[in-house]
Amino acid sequence: MNVLIIGAGYVGTTTGLIFAELGHSVTVIDVDQKKINDLQKGILFFYEPGLDTLLTKHIASGNITFEMDHQKAIKDNPLIFICVGTPQNQDGSANLDFLREASEFIGSNLYEYKIIVIKSTVPAGTSKQVKGWIEYTKKDPVSFDVLSNPEFLREGSALHDALYPDRIILGSENDQATALLQELYKGIKAPFIVTSPSAAELIKYTANSFLATKISFINEIAILCDKLHINVQDVAKGVGLDIRIGPLFLDAGIGYGGSCFPKDVLALIDTAKKNNVDLSILEKVHAVNENQPGYLLKKIKTRLISLSAKKIAVLGLSFKAQTDDIRQSPSLKIIKDLISEGAMVEIHDPVAKLPGDLMDKVFQKASAEEAMINADAILICTDWPHYKKIDWPDLKNKMKSPIVFDGRNMLDAAEMKSIGYIYEGIGCE
Ligand code: NAD
Repeated sequence: MNVLIIGAGYVGTTTGLIFAELGHSVTVIDVDQKKINDLQKGILFFYEPGLDTLLTKHIASGNITFEMDHQKAIKDNPLIFICVGTPQNQDGSANLDFLREASEFIGSNLYEYKIIVIKSTVPAGTSKQVKGWIEYTKKDPVSFDVLSNPEFLREGSALHDALYPDRIILGSENDQATALLQELYKGIKAPFIVTSPSAAELIKYTANSFLATKISFINEIAILCDKLHINVQDVAKGVGLDIRIGPLFLDAGIGYGGSCFPKDVLALIDTAKKNNVDLSILEKVHAVNENQPGYLLKKIKTRLISLSAKKIAVLGLSFKAQTDDIRQSPSLKIIKDLISEGAMVEIHDPVAKLPGDLMDKVFQKASAEEAMINADAILICTDWPHYKKIDWPDLKNKMKSPIVFDGRNMLDAAEMKSIGYIYEGIGCE
């Protein structure tokens, strides 16, 4: 099938490559000329394991092309996926400006029947809005359908998630369009849940908000564990083995970040408010998450007394391992707080880079070990597997004081203490 992807971001590029892998002929467009130029050369603008290989493969196979001629791309493709960003407005609501722009562009170039599929995360009822925007801008009396097909991939395992999803959610009111989408996804073994577009849209927010709730819940339990001198990991293990609960997203730490959970929780709260529904459980989830980096900072300040002129080595910048995405990363929040307390911060991340506003305030080192030399304390903010393999006994002697604050509870507390470190995790002494 001929498929057009609008928006060459994390989701659009991955989706396009998956469809190319399934044998479809995919065109990807974006308003960002540089992204398209790079993608044409096989250069990914973000780090995602395995995706670069697939990109090289399908540029060569001809199954995927990246274009700037948007009008031609709309004209040539009967099936259009919208994968543009839906960032957060100041008030927490979802910003649909990019979606509106893309919809109006489709509308003003619509001269024959097309199926338009919204993959971006959008509030319940948005497909109706998209329909309206297209209807209002189209010049010819042609028909079209708008479907919702939210994406559930996670950065860091995007390829695996998109190839082996737990389910494919399709919001559709047209049986023929549904059948075409099922044909498009042929080759992906996953249950197909067909529902209304609004329900599909709400499924996405509910899923992300539920996962965020698990994280904030275990983080509050971790704070209680600290008080009771109980290891939260033991608690999470015992709880997670209950199949009604499951072990995932029960890792206590400095909280969730990234481009999805924080904004999606707030957008769902906003939808509830607009419909006069009290979703205070999610307000609490958000509040707990906002406080979590500060909880670790409090531990650091209690232990070091003053942070003034102390050298702190921060390991990890990205919001989680296996990605270079630093959007809403708790690590950034902690680094900024450390600086404002007068600390000297050196950081390491295997792939993520410091944002512009921190470049002249923080040193980024090429290795974790370099950042740790002469440090007064180490602070782990991202659970990159490499940090487990550091020669901790050797580095202990190279630090000013052997103190480790593990914001991801990724090291073995007993082992670290046996080496001679003062070790503090979150709910995990
Ligand atoms: P992104 O910011 O990485 O990519 C969006 C792309 O759309 C950008 O390259 C931008 O230039 C382009 N764009 C904006 N307006 C355009 C237009 N009018 N025409 C063409 N291109 C346009 O965003 P993302 O992380 O890929 O997320 C996209 C959507 O998918 C969001 O709604 C997000 O919530 C959702 N989502 C993201 C993830 C994730 O892990 N990143 C997972 C699931 C769902």
